[in-house]
Amino acid sequence: MRVSADALRRNYARIRAAVGPSTGLIPMVKANAYGLGVRETVRVLSAERPWGWGVATVDEGVALRALSVQQPVIVFSPVPPDSCEAAVAAGLHLTVSSLDTLDRLVAVGRRVGTVPSVHLDVDTGMGRAGFDWRKAALWMPRFLDAAKGSINWVGCYTHLHSAEDDEGSVREQWASFQEVLDRIPDPPPGLLIHLLNSAGSLRLPELARGAVRPGMFMYGGRVGDAQPVPEPVASLHARVVHLRDAEPGTSLGYGVTYQARGAERWATLGIGYADGLPWALGNRGSALLRGVRVPIIGRISMDMTVVDISGVSGVRVGDVATLLGTEGGESISVDEVAELAGTISYEVLTGLTARLPRVWTGLDGA
Ligand SMILES: *Cc1c(COP(=O)(O)O)cnc(C)c1O
Repeated sequence: MRVSADALRRNYARIRAAVGPSTGLIPMVKANAYGLGVRETVRVLSAERPWGWGVATVDEGVALRALSVQQPVIVFSPVPPDSCEAAVAAGLHLTVSSLDTLDRLVAVGRRVGTVPSVHLDVDTGMGRAGFDWRKAALWMPRFLDAAKGSINWVGCYTHLHSAEDDEGSVREQWASFQEVLDRIPDPPPGLLIHLLNSAGSLRLPELARGAVRPGMFMYGGRVGDAQPVPEPVASLHARVVHLRDAEPGTSLGYGVTYQARGAERWATLGIGYADGLPWALGNRGSALLRGVRVPIIGRISMDMTVVDISGVSGVRVGDVATLLGTEGGESISVDEVAELAGTISYEVLTGLTARLPRVWTGLDGA
């Protein structure tokens, strides 16, 4: 797997250009920076001076601190009760979705001797976390009370559910969020308001407010048909490890879902679903070899995948095939792979496993 620091920088710059110089950026680097490598991603983007960083778990936040990240690190998933103390002690910013969590953080803060920094999570339709915007009268007073000194109230945010393809929904969520914001009688100076993900940042940058939280677009996945196309950041490669001439009728792979239709030439690639190549690409996906698009035949195995190279001359063991990326005039995008596999680009990228070495290029500028 190769990862281009330059492409990452350029995609980040497009988000920055969309939202303007006065908006803070909070690159989402959860899940090992969507599978690409959090250490390198942080190294590359630190030079761009983001406002902070977004992760999902306390462990991910602690790992960022271990990389000497100076900016705020926000843990976006609700923090489990057992992890509160470690999170507060590590100085992570936590998101608060319930009064229980609020109470716990206040108590932990007192015990540890640190005032926890929090972002108020307002649910405007995503439904999985956050305080219900319709019930602000119920929870807001207690939150405001805690904000008088028991917590350090840094930010207030919501999360969009359909910015990729439904602009009206973004405006609706914004209106709901705004209703909650209007109920804050005396917001602390500098309270950071944030709601836009990648798709929102590109589609409705005028709603950026204090900061935006880009993810997938930076990492090279499309975020809606109407949005700009990002530059691919990751490419996936595997060596040809075996070649064979298959007689007509030769059977292939688990379940024998493929048999040679005539005299064919097959190349076995040293990559499989244990590397994160979706199993669903069996008999559906393709690879690029010597600049030619060749079909994946049979089921993908854990460690090997076979392609039909009957139409390609000169293939040798040791050649490098491309499963994601560009070769010659052909390219295979993460979005194409996701669609063929019946999933989304997010799952494809985050599904690339630790067995694949991540070889970064262009890091020197960082
Ligand atoms: C993952 C995430 C994002 C980024 O979303 P993309 O669609 O990848 O841009 C933004 N905000 C929150 C809270 C997230 O969890």
